[in-house]
Amino acid sequence: MLNIIPATGSIGAECFLLLSENGAFLADTGYAFSAEATVQNIARALGARSLDLILLTHSHYDHVGGLPAMKRAWPGAEAVAHHYAKEVFARPGAKRVMRSLDADAAHKCGERAAREAYTEAFAVDRTVGEGDVLRAGGASICVMEMPGHTKCSVSYYFQEEDLLVLSETAGVMLKTGEVIPAFIVSYDATLEAIARAEAMAPRRMLVSHSGELRGGAVTEYLRAARAATQTAAELVLTEHARGKDFEAICAAYTEKFYIGSCREYQPPEAFLLNTRAMIARLIAQTETRL
Ligand SMILES: [Zn+2]
Repeated sequence: MLNIIPATGSIGAECFLLLSENGAFLADTGYAFSAEATVQNIARALGARSLDLILLTHSHYDHVGGLPAMKRAWPGAEAVAHHYAKEVFARPGAKRVMRSLDADAAHKCGERAAREAYTEAFAVDRTVGEGDVLRAGGASICVMEMPGHTKCSVSYYFQEEDLLVLSETAGVMLKTGEVIPAFIVSYDATLEAIARAEAMAPRRMLVSHSGELRGGAVTEYLRAARAATQTAAELVLTEHARGKDFEAICAAYTEKFYIGSCREYQPPEAFLLNTRAMIARLIAQTETRL
């Protein structure tokens, strides 16, 4: 049985160690600035054991920033990501944005920015896509593309455990159980991803930034995720139809969704960057459909 152990060195950039008798897997790697603390948390849980796979769910800075540190600590661990994530890592512009957001997050946490962050290459050892099956540490892990949050968002399904490590696409769950929508690149793909997870109805699910859910809590989360996604799109499109300008729509959206623990841990710069991209895409996608 896989135990799921929260491993992040800094709240807001959650990553999880999945540990069984035969295997050790890391889902995401957290921020760059707190990577050493994350390494220590993982090392404490692993002891002398090695890490089999580092499973990246997408290419955002709060999920991949710790990768170079993880690779230094466990050089034998194979880093896995969608092939599009590898393309993102190769772009100097994308790395500059990630470095700047990581520094903002460090500042918000009262920590010092990592001086070496994003200067090293992000070593993705294996790129994957829909239908690929990874076999490691006694587990068979099916890769499911679930774009919507980003083009490179993937979920990992541990077959033997009936455990779905869900991409951030479906939305982030706050401590209150409320879901903050996370679609940026596609509303339709997000609803499809949620429907796919619902159809699978896994026994266990690991929700991005939140943690493990089981049984009825899985169903409840997915229902709340769909409702939040639809509410978000409605808000944007209604304000747009009323003739509100882009900035006013951003402000209305921020007021509704930049709340609770999301506000505590996510720097406003990162929230706004995602929100602006999402609103622009949603309006453009809706207008081309009309
Ligand atoms: Zn993200």
